[in-house]
Amino acid sequence: MTLDTRQLLFTPIPDRIARLQELAYNLWWSWHPEARRLYQQIDPDLWELVYHNPVRFLREVRQHRFETIVANQEFLQQYDAVMADFDAYVGSKDTWFTRHYPGVQGKTIAYFSAEFGMHESLPIYSGGLGILSGDHVKEASDMDLPFVAVGFIYPQGYFRQRLDQSGWQFAEYTKMNFADVSASPALTDDGHEVVVDVELPGRTIFAKVYRIQVGRVPLLLMDTDIHPNSPQDRELSARLYGGDQEMRVAQETVLGIGGVRALRKLGIAPTVWHMNEGHSAFLVLELARELVQQGMSFEQAMQQVKSHTIFTTHTPVPAGNDAFPFPMIEKFFWQFWPQLGINRDEFMNVARQEQDWGPTFAMTALAINLSTHRNGVSKLHGHVARGMWQWLFPEKSQDEVPITSITNGVHTASWLAPELRKVYNEALGNDWEDRVDDGEMWKKLYDVPNKTIWDTKQQLRRNLMAFARERTRQRFVHLGQPPAIWPILEEHVLTLGFARRFATYKRATLIFKDLERLKAILNNPNRPVQIIFAGKSHPKDDPGKHFIQSVYQLSLQPGLAGRIIFLEEYDIAVGRELVKGVDVWLNNPRRPHEASGTSGQKASLNGVPNLSILDGWWPEAFNGRNGWAIGEEREYSNQEEQDWNDAVSLYETLENEVIPAFYDRDAAGIPNRWVDICKESIVTCAPQFSMRRMIAEYTNRFYMPVALEK
Ligand SMILES: *Cc1c(COP(=O)(O)O)cnc(C)c1O
Repeated sequence: MTLDTRQLLFTPIPDRIARLQELAYNLWWSWHPEARRLYQQIDPDLWELVYHNPVRFLREVRQHRFETIVANQEFLQQYDAVMADFDAYVGSKDTWFTRHYPGVQGKTIAYFSAEFGMHESLPIYSGGLGILSGDHVKEASDMDLPFVAVGFIYPQGYFRQRLDQSGWQFAEYTKMNFADVSASPALTDDGHEVVVDVELPGRTIFAKVYRIQVGRVPLLLMDTDIHPNSPQDRELSARLYGGDQEMRVAQETVLGIGGVRALRKLGIAPTVWHMNEGHSAFLVLELARELVQQGMSFEQAMQQVKSHTIFTTHTPVPAGNDAFPFPMIEKFFWQFWPQLGINRDEFMNVARQEQDWGPTFAMTALAINLSTHRNGVSKLHGHVARGMWQWLFPEKSQDEVPITSITNGVHTASWLAPELRKVYNEALGNDWEDRVDDGEMWKKLYDVPNKTIWDTKQQLRRNLMAFARERTRQRFVHLGQPPAIWPILEEHVLTLGFARRFATYKRATLIFKDLERLKAILNNPNRPVQIIFAGKSHPKDDPGKHFIQSVYQLSLQPGLAGRIIFLEEYDIAVGRELVKGVDVWLNNPRRPHEASGTSGQKASLNGVPNLSILDGWWPEAFNGRNGWAIGEEREYSNQEEQDWNDAVSLYETLENEVIPAFYDRDAAGIPNRWVDICKESIVTCAPQFSMRRMIAEYTNRFYMPVALEK
C-alpha cells in the first residue's frame, strides 16, 4: 500500500490493532454491531461524543487508551474475530449474486438518489427515501450485486432539529469536515481525483467526487464546495433540499448530468440505470446526448436510453413531484437541446405536464417516459401511481398503465437489536442472515419459549427508557434549564412509538382528537400506557412544525405529562433505539398517502407489532394475528370525517385489543397472547419485508433482464 497521508491526522495506533483504521473506512462497520463495539470499548464516552463515527474517534482518542486496550486479551480476541469476518465478507466468492447469476460479468447497475441514509454520523438523508437508498446499497453489497451508487455529499447535511421552550422547531446546521467521515476523494485507475463540470446558466459549475466504501460497493458523492466555483455555487450542494426552485433545478442538473459524467471519468460503464425518485431524471438527457453526439438520431437515442433505465416513484402526493416552469428549464437547457438535435418544443415535450398554472417540465413524467421498468413501492401505491400517471398513457385504462410495484423492505442487520439477534442465532441457525427472505426458516421462531422473547423485550424496553431519559436530560442541559417534567416514563408500562417525518398527512396529532379518552387510556392505574414521539418537519413546512409544537405542548399538560414525551432530532440512531425498544409501532397516515412506510417494517422485525392504518405496506402484511388495523380500507372525500372515524377506531383497538393482550399475564407474569403476536409479527414480516426480498425482486424482474438483453 502507498503511504496514506490521512494517517498523519490520526493518533498512532499499535500495530496489533492497526486495522481499526482500515475498518473505519468501510461502512461495513455501520451494520455490524460487534465492529462498532470495538471502538466503543476503547473509550465509551468519546464514542458517544463523536456520535459513533469511527473516523473522528480515531483522530480524537488519546494514545493511552490504545495502550490499555491492546493489553486486553478479550478485546484482542474480539478484534481478530471482527477482522476475520470482515475479510471473509469482502473476499467471499460464494454470494447470492454468484449463486443466482453464475458467469455474469461486466454488468454494472448504477443507482441514483438525492439522499442516502447510511449512518447517523453521515447526515446526508432526510427521511424514508434516504433510509431506503442507504439500506439498498448495504444489501446490494451483502448480495454482491455489481452495483455503484451516486448522489451528493452535503457538507451541511440535513439540519439538526432543536425545539425551543415552546416546542417550535428550529434548524441547526453544522459544517461537516470530510476528513472526519469515512469518505475519501474518488480516484481514477491512474490515481487522479475526479472533478466533473456541468453547464448552468451563464457559467460552468464543478463538482468533486468523493467515494465511500459500503462493504463491496462504492458510493460516489459529489460536492460543489470547491474552487473555482462562485460562492453561490459552492453552496449548491451545501444542504439537502435547501433553496428555491431554481436551486433545485441546478442541484438536479448536477446530480443527473454530473453523476453520469462522474461515472464516465471513473471508467465505469453501467448497463442498468436506476433512478430512485425523479430528482436524478436529467440523467436520461445526458445519456441521450452522448448517443446523439456519436451520430445517433434523437429518436433512436431515446429508445436506447429507455431500454436501460429503471424508475421508482415514491410520491403519491402530486405536490411532492418536482415540476418546473418552462422559462426556468429554458434558462438551464437552451444550450443543451441543440446537442440533442432537437428544438425547444421537442425538448419540453419529453416531460411536459399541464398544471393549473400552466405547462411544466415534470421530473416524474421525464422519468416515466424514459424508463423501461417503472414501479411504486407497495401494491396499493402502485395502484395509486397508475391512477396519477394514467394521463401519460391516454390509450390505456388505469389497470393497464405500465407502472408495477415492488414493495419496500429494510436491511435486517442495520435495524435488528443485537439482543434479539442472539435469540435468532439460537433459533434459526448461524447462517440465517444469509437466508433472511426464507419464510419457512422463520417459522422455527414459533418454538422459542415465550419467556425468552418476553425477557428480551423487557430488557429492550428498559434500555429505551434509559436512552429517552438521557436524551431528554441533554435537551434541558442544552436549553440551560431544569427539565419541565421529571420523572418521565416508566419501565413496565405499555409503550407506543410514533416516529416519522412530521408531514401533515402522517397525522401525528390524531391520537389527541379526544383528549379525555386519551387521558383515561394513559392513566388507567392497572393498565397504563405511554407514548414516545419523535420526528422532524421540513424547514419550510410550518404546518408540520405546528404539529410538533402541539405534541410538545400537550406532553406538558396535566394528565399527559410524564406519559408522553417528544424526543428531539429523529435520526437513524433515534430510529434504531425506538424500533427495538417500544412495544407497539403506531402509524396513522391519511390513507392512501403513505407510499410504503418502512419504520413499521423495522419494528416488526424486532417483534414490535404494528398498530396501523391499512396504508402503504401494511395491507400486504396484516393477517389479523401480527398486529392491528386502524380504520377501514376505503377512501373518504371528507377529511374531518376520515380523521374522526380513524381516531375512534384507534381508541377502540387500543382499549379492546392492544392493552388487554399486553396486560393479561400468566402465573409466571408472562403475557402469552402478547408474545404470540410479537412472534407472528417477526415470522410474517421479517422475511417478506426484508431488503433481501426487495432487491432479489429488483434484480430478477428489472436489473438482470435489462442487463442481459441482447
Ligand atoms: C425508517 C426511517 C424513516 C422512514 O419511516 P416511515 O415509516 O417511512 O415514516 C424516516 N426516518 C428515519 C430516521 C428512519 O429510520
